[in-house]
Amino acid sequence: MQMQYVRDRVQLDSVTLGRHDMRFILRNTDVSMANAIRRTMIAEVPTMAIDVVTIHENTSVLHDEYIAHRVGLIPLASGAADAYTYNRDCEECEDFCSRCSVGYSLTVHNSTEDDVPVTSKDLIPAADSAVAAAPPGDPVVPVHDSGDVLRDAVAAAAGTPGAGLLTSAADAAAKGILIVKLGKGQRLSFTAVAKKGIGKEHAKWSPVCTVAFRAEPPAVRFVLPRLNELLDETAKADLLSLALGVVAIDDNGNLYYDSPFLAGRSAITADAVRRAGELAAAAGGAESEIVEFCEHPERFEFEVETTGVLAPKEVLTRAIGVLRDKVTTVAAHLAQVSQEGVDDPPLL
Ligand SMILES: [Zn+2]
Repeated sequence: MQMQYVRDRVQLDSVTLGRHDMRFILRNTDVSMANAIRRTMIAEVPTMAIDVVTIHENTSVLHDEYIAHRVGLIPLASGAADAYTYNRDCEECEDFCSRCSVGYSLTVHNSTEDDVPVTSKDLIPAADSAVAAAPPGDPVVPVHDSGDVLRDAVAAAAGTPGAGLLTSAADAAAKGILIVKLGKGQRLSFTAVAKKGIGKEHAKWSPVCTVAFRAEPPAVRFVLPRLNELLDETAKADLLSLALGVVAIDDNGNLYYDSPFLAGRSAITADAVRRAGELAAAAGGAESEIVEFCEHPERFEFEVETTGVLAPKEVLTRAIGVLRDKVTTVAAHLAQVSQEGVDDPPLL
């Protein structure tokens, strides 16, 4: 059958939105576009993250670098990221200013007898920067109810029934993200500066934990009716040993697709294809009869989970914006190309 290359417009459907996650199906496009969207969501959507930590006093059990690293990973609400300039490009300041950065401070002294947790809730935005550049109602503040906090706490509580079970995101938000625990008499005091950046520079700027897609139909499939016809019981068992999670054998001794394969969680390996070919050939068949290839998947099922810094829909919208800007840059540059050519290629 002749493959049709002229496709309809790219289409998005079956969108399911959660607070920190989203599922959707992309149609009428190919693997390169699906992967470009996936990679842009992971690595090129700008967000805010703490990049400079100046420790004033630290008598906790963790050393300065460790604390700075933990603070850098605290997700910061980044709806206003586009309102900031990159610190390296900022023409307003030598160091930091409200156009390119957000300042925070933290000072905790444990004067009690018990351990005191220092969390993202103790990070206080500096009055002169956080609110200044961000649009009203969209300040760059820590996202306390990161999905992981909730999940970890629930898992921990499951092991010890009744001990601090977190039942809702609001409870997680109330607790904050743990930086360090201070023992009796210990102090922690630092100032921190958040900057705009992208996941390509450092994973802390990535707005997502995962973005995955699976192509439908899968690239390689067995022609099961023909395999069932050709192979005897021993050959089927032989193939099964190389394709666990892909095929299974029913009560009548016939191969069928197992649920992990149907759900896209397993794929047919090159070894399994080779063995199936050998077994089919030994039974008088041909390799070409028992495997079919799909070079042009028809749809891509995406799963996105964010770190909480941006709504999942916003991550997708901004990723598409980044891709569009790149193509626009190329087009604008092309328009300037004269007969002699240009010296500076566009930066993508
Ligand atoms: Zn600046």
